[in-house]
Parts: sequence; structure tokens; C-alpha cells
Amino acid sequence: MPLRLFNTYSRTLEEFHPLDSAGREVKMYTCGPTVYSHAHIGNFRAYLFEDLLQRHLELREFKVRRVMNITDVDDKTIQGSRSAGIPLAEFTSPFKQAFFEDLDTLRIKRADSFPEATDADQIAAMIEMIKTLMARDLAYQAEDKSVYFRINKFPAYGRLAHFDLSELRSTGRVKSDEYDKEHVGDFALWKAWDEEDGPVCWESPWGPGRPGWHIECSAMATQLLGEQLDIHCGGVDNIFPHHEAEIAQTEGCTGKKFVRYWMHCAHLMVDGQKMSKSVGNFYTLRDVLAKGYSGREVRYALMRVHYRAPLNFTWEGMEESRQALGRIDDWLARLREKANGAGASQSTKQGEQFEEGLDDDLNISAALGFLFETIRETNRALDLGSLDAGEASAWLQWWERIDRVLAITGKESALPPEVAVLAEARVQARLAKDWRKSDELRDELAARGWEARDTKDGQKITRRSGV
Ligand code: AMP
Ligand code: ZN
Repeated sequence: MPLRLFNTYSRTLEEFHPLDSAGREVKMYTCGPTVYSHAHIGNFRAYLFEDLLQRHLELREFKVRRVMNITDVDDKTIQGSRSAGIPLAEFTSPFKQAFFEDLDTLRIKRADSFPEATDADQIAAMIEMIKTLMARDLAYQAEDKSVYFRINKFPAYGRLAHFDLSELRSTGRVKSDEYDKEHVGDFALWKAWDEEDGPVCWESPWGPGRPGWHIECSAMATQLLGEQLDIHCGGVDNIFPHHEAEIAQTEGCTGKKFVRYWMHCAHLMVDGQKMSKSVGNFYTLRDVLAKGYSGREVRYALMRVHYRAPLNFTWEGMEESRQALGRIDDWLARLREKANGAGASQSTKQGEQFEEGLDDDLNISAALGFLFETIRETNRALDLGSLDAGEASAWLQWWERIDRVLAITGKESALPPEVAVLAEARVQARLAKDWRKSDELRDELAARGWEARDTKDGQKITRRSGV
């Protein structure tokens, strides 16, 4: 069965063929976090869907090159740094670090590159793109000195989101009080500096200011992956205006089709509402870990429902996930005992149903359904004594293959390296009875969100709750 993916652009399931069909390279761009606070688990649903996609493509022997941007300048980050009374970079830095720790806790593969919006190279690339758009009459500088994209000059605008420009007026999706724009839907490419921005600004041919959010992604994607991408992902809320704007900007510059497959995941919900910072109905990963759940349990809970179906977050759901993982662990333990080091005697050809489920637009429910059916059947055979060591070993081999996608067994990820260094230094300080140093290191760990406890079995490091 061919690999098929649902393309938001065409609203249909399409067979997947990357641009580079011979080399099997897949260029993938995934919109990343805005680092003004800790990402919530709704954000991580999006990143986990992207991780599942990358891992499945790799299982199918594609070579994925993935970029994820870090938005470290926008209204919210600037406002945060102002209220904290510290420079922007100092304000965003701990949130960047926390984001990477959370990726590790959830076993999300690192992208090949995480460009930051404030990188000098990236700002230069954004300015170049805006210059090209200006030269092509696709952008203009308004009275307020900001530069806007002229959507009336880009006939395909609205094609991804499936609506026409007149609709944009009537739905009132876009603030219409910005009198100096030509069209209410024109969006900022370059935001002229104003007092609220304080010291945050860069020089440009249009005066001091900062880039708009949309141009960031167009510039970073083309800088790092080239003018044409195979896959571009995000949550459904990114479709409009963000991804629509990315298409207009990029294709406006290159004249080439920007993205072959647009993929979007449905939201993580709480009581029927999207989990979001603005509603306040969110949990960070740290909140969930503080309730005693592990990274792999959260990973499983957020991954087990098809990415295009809304997923309601509940604590019962977390319990079900814990039980499901417990069943898998017990099953693996039984298989290991039975196999007892024997070689695999049979092929688990029937096991291909798992991967075929994922070939069908990442149908994880079908894949997991097959997994649990297999667990039931093999457990029954073990009960009856009709499954021999070679067969048990074959199923273990199969598991190792599919766990390259699921990534739910094996050790919990280790402490982040800098935390491990501090933890080790504290052990040494205590051995040397240097209590002052030990206390200082405890404080340093606490400042990074980790708690050091001294138990009869030695020092234990856990995440601090509420951090
Ligand atoms: P943001 O930091 O708001 O730009 O979001 C980062 C990523 O998380 C984007 O791809 C969003 O579409 C996605 N996202 C935000 N909220 C949710 C949610 N409740 N469920 C799933 N994805 C989300
Ligand atoms: Zn983006």
C-alpha cells in the first residue's frame, strides 16, 4: 500500500512522493514555539504529530531533513521582557532551554536545525525577501512606516484556507481599524519601531523595526531547506493567516510552488475548548509530570488519537494511557522470559499491518488496534504454551522495529546534561561534607526547575512542581 497523507491544500488524501524521489530526501518544515512562557501540552500535541510523521517516514526509509523555528521576538516576548525588566534575550533564554528539555522528556526527535528569529543571518534573509516583494510591487510601506504584503496582487491568496478575499472582510477575522493599510487582510512584513518595543529593533531600508511573524518562517524555511519543501506542518490554527501568508511571501519571491504537502493537526481540547494560553485552560508538561506521570505516558496520551481528530485532555485519559503502557510492558516481559535469548524463528509478516495503518495518513488508531490485538493473541498463546521461544523472539524483534516510531519503551530520558553536571557536583560536595556548596548547588538546580532530595538511597533529582 502506498503512503498517503491528507493535504490541507487539496483537502484530499494524496500519495506521498517527495520532490527528490530518487534520493528519498524529504524536506520538512515545522512551525515552532514562541518562547515567552512554557509551551503547553496542546503545543506538544502538534510537535508529537510531527514527530510521529518524521519517525514513520524514516521507518519507510525516507531521509528527513527537518527545520523548526524558534520565535524569540514578537509582541508577547517583548511585553514579557518589559514586565520582567530584563533584555529580550535574557527573558526568552530559560523558555528556550525548557522547550528543549520538554522535547527530550517526550522523546521528540530533534530537528536538524532550530533557527531563531533574532539570528542576524535570519533577519538579513527576511529583509532580502521583503526587498524582493517590494521590487515586485507585492509589498508597500504605509503611513505608519510598516511594510505590508499587498494581498490583492497575489491571486492565490486564500487558496490554502479555502476562502476568497471578500469573505475576509465580512468575517471580521482581521482587525479593520488599521486605516493605513490598503486592504484589511494585508499583513505586516516589517513592523516599524514604536515606543513599546523599547530597545528591540533592527535597521532596515524602511527604517528601524522588527520582522513580522509570517516572514520569519518563509525566510528560515527557504534559507535552510531551499525554495521548495515537501512537507510543512503545524496546528490547524496556523492555516490562516500564518501559512497562507507564508505561501504568498515565498511564492511571491520565488515564483515556484512552495510546499507540496500541507499537514495540520487538530487541537488538543479541554472541555470542548481549544487548550490555549489566552483561555487559561492549559497544562504545561511540567504540570502533568508534577502529578506523577512520566514523559512516555504523556507522549502516548497525546499520540494515541488520529492527528486530524480533536483530542480531549482528561486525567482519565492519562490513566488509560498508563494502563495501556503497563499492558505493553507486561507483554514484553513475558516475551523476553519466553524467548530467553533464542533467535527469531519466524517472520512476523502479519505485523506489517501496524505500518500499513500508519501509511494510511498516520492512522495511529488502526496501528494501535492491531498492536493490542496482537498482544491479546500472543498472550493467549503464551497461556496455552503454544508460542515457542523463537516466535517470542520474533515478536520482540517486531516490537523493536515499531518502537522506532512509537518510542514508548526503554529508559526514561536521562537528565539534561547541565542538570546532570550540577547533580554530580552536589554528590561530590556532600561526600566532601561541604554543606554550603551542597546548598548552593541545590539552589542552582532549583533555579533550573529541578529538586534535589537526599534519601537513604542517595540523592534523587526530580522536576519541581509548578515550574
Ligand atoms: P504557538 O506557540 O501558539 O505558535 O503554537 C505552536 C504550535 O502549537 C503551532 O503549530 C500551533 O498550531 C500548535 N497549537 C497551539 N495550540 C494547540 C492545541 N490546543 N492543540 C494542538 N496544537 C496546538
Ligand atoms: Zn511558522
